[in-house]
Amino acid sequence: MKDKRRSTDNFKHYVNELQKGNSFFSAEIIFSKSVLVFAFIDAVKALLFLMANSLYMMIVYGLTCVLLITVAHGRIKKGHHLSVIMIVLLEISVMSVITTIFVGWDTGFSNLLFACITASFYFPLVVKTEKRNMLSLCFCILILLCYFVCYLLTSILIPITPLSRSWTIFFFIFNTLLSMALMVAFSFLFVWELMSKQRILQQQNDQLDELAHKDPLTHLLNRRSMNELIETHMDNLKKTGKRFTIVLGDIDNFKSVNDTYGHEAGDMVLVAVSEIISRNVGPSDLVSRWGGEEILILLSDPLEAATLTTDRIRKRIDENIVSHEGQDIHVSMTFGAAESIPGFRIEHLIQQADDKLYYGKKHGKNQVVTDLPADFVIKKK
Ligand code: GH3
Ligand code: MG
Ligand code: MG
Repeated sequence: MKDKRRSTDNFKHYVNELQKGNSFFSAEIIFSKSVLVFAFIDAVKALLFLMANSLYMMIVYGLTCVLLITVAHGRIKKGHHLSVIMIVLLEISVMSVITTIFVGWDTGFSNLLFACITASFYFPLVVKTEKRNMLSLCFCILILLCYFVCYLLTSILIPITPLSRSWTIFFFIFNTLLSMALMVAFSFLFVWELMSKQRILQQQNDQLDELAHKDPLTHLLNRRSMNELIETHMDNLKKTGKRFTIVLGDIDNFKSVNDTYGHEAGDMVLVAVSEIISRNVGPSDLVSRWGGEEILILLSDPLEAATLTTDRIRKRIDENIVSHEGQDIHVSMTFGAAESIPGFRIEHLIQQADDKLYYGKKHGKNQVVTDLPADFVIKKK
C-alpha cells in the first residue's frame, strides 16, 4: 500500500517537473539507473556465456557487473557524475573490444560501440560541465578507434574462445537488438532533455518579457511599452488612415481610499479596476498603467465607438464593490478621450486626453469627457 502511494507520489512529482519544464529525471537518478541497467546487461551476458559454456567470459562479465555497481555507485553518491560517465562508457567500449577478441567479430559485440555514441552525447548534457562537447567528441574518437582495433585484430587473429555457430548467431542478434534499443533510448532522452531546456528558456524569456513590458502590480502594459505601441499605431494611421482613440482615466478620490482603508486596500482597488478595464476592451485594444492610479487605454475605434466602450467601463467600475477585510470599497473613475488625427504628435494627443480628464475632474468626476468648451484650455493655461 505504502509502495503504491510512493510510486503515485513519484509519478506526480515527474508530471509536476515536466509541467515546470524541468528535466525528465534528476542527474542522480539518470546515473544510478543507467549504471544499474548496464550492470544488469552485464549480468545477463554472464548468464548467457555460462549457458554457452564460455566460462572465462562468464567470469569477466560477472566481475565487471560487480565492479560497475561498486565503483560507479560510490562516485554517484559523491556527486562525481562526470567520472561515472567515463566509467560507464569506458566499460562498454573496453568490454566490447575484449569480448570481440575472445569470441569473434561475428558475435556483434562491436555493434554496442555505436550505442555509446548516442550515450556519449546524452550523458554530458545532463551534467553542468563546460567540457561537454569535448568529452563527447573524445569518446566518439575512442569508440571509432576501438571499432577499428576490433576489426583489425579479429581479421588477423582467430577468436581465443570461439562459440558454437548457433551461439554466435544468437549473440549477433542479441547484441544488434540491444544496440538498437540503447541507441533509441539515448536518442529519445537526448531530445527530451533538449526540449526541457528549451521549455525552461522559453519560460525565462516570458518572465523577462513580462518584467520589461508589464506593470508588476496590475499586469497592465507599462508606460514605456505603451508609448512604443502608440507610436506604431501613429505610423499605421499615416499609412492606412485607420483612426484610434486615446483614453486617459484616473480613479476618483483615490487618496481618500488609501487614507481610509490603507495602502493595501488601495492596491486591491487598483488591481480590480485594471481587471474591469481589461475585461471590457477588445482584443486589438491596449491598456496600460500610465502612472499612479492613471490608466491610459488605446481603443482601436474612432471617438464615437470608443466613447461607448469607455462609458461601459465607467459604469462597470461604478457598479463594482471591492471587499477588503470585511469592508466594502466603492470607487468611480473619470476619463478623457481624444481621437488620433494624422500628423498629430503623440504628446499632443495625450495632452488632449489629459485636458479632458482634467475638465471631468473639475466638473463632477465619474464621467467620460470627449469635448471641451472652447475657452477651457485657455483658462487652464
Ligand atoms: P482625484 O479624484 O482628483 O483624482 O483625487 P485623487 O485623490 O485620486 O488624486 P491624487 O492624484 O491627489 O491622488 C492619487 C493618490 O494615488 C496618491 C497616491 O498615494 C495614490 N497612489 C498612487 N499609486 C498608488 C499605488 O500603486 N497604490 C496605492 N495604494 N496608491 C497609489
Ligand atoms: Mg485620482
Ligand atoms: Mg491621479
